[in-house]
Amino acid sequence: MIIGVTGGIASGKSTVAHAFAARGVPFVDADDVAREVVEPGEPALAEIAAHFGPRVLRDDGQLDRRALRAIVFAEPDQRRWLESVTHPRIRERIQHHLARLQADGAPYVLLVSPLLFESGQWRLTDRTLVVDVPEAMQIRRTAARDDIDTAQAQAIVAAQMSRDERLARADDVIDNSGPHDAMLEQVARLDQQYRQGES
Ligand code: ADP
Repeated sequence: MIIGVTGGIASGKSTVAHAFAARGVPFVDADDVAREVVEPGEPALAEIAAHFGPRVLRDDGQLDRRALRAIVFAEPDQRRWLESVTHPRIRERIQHHLARLQADGAPYVLLVSPLLFESGQWRLTDRTLVVDVPEAMQIRRTAARDDIDTAQAQAIVAAQMSRDERLARADDVIDNSGPHDAMLEQVARLDQQYRQGES
């Protein structure tokens, strides 16, 4: 069984994933995979460099993410092109990592992705788990963790899928607005449910 874990910025996806991992349930982080597929030597990076030219490469041959972000932010067609190159490879690599963890004997596995619903990655999963906190708390935790001001954190939250929509699409929800221990209790309960293969 594959559980898709998502939530808005600073909702606690990573914290929850580590709580499952401490109970012997491994996870694949979609953000890590997105970085993996554009590492030097990867075909996607070669295609991107051929398409956009050396302005998207740093001196050490790594992708210049900031330069690429600036280009695709201004040009939606280019963003679509970039996604047509990266998304299939990200999906393929996620499936590869998940399959390996399952073959290694994991009771079940997690796919942690901030864009689980938006990217269609939820289709790779059997159930979805949303980590939920009120927006005001999300903004506070984002500002504190990433050392940005409240207005910047607010803008990031406003640009994401709404809390209501995310909750409407969730099979399961962890309320992470309380203390750490309260989150751990919910993880323990869901872990028991998932191990029994309950849906
Ligand atoms: P995400 O992966 O969803 O962006 P994180 O797991 O990084 O979110 O959590 C965001 C921030 O909030 C981190 O600094 C984390 O330590 C903190 N945090 C997570 N859960 C709690 C909690 N229950 N109480 C207080 N702080 C929390």
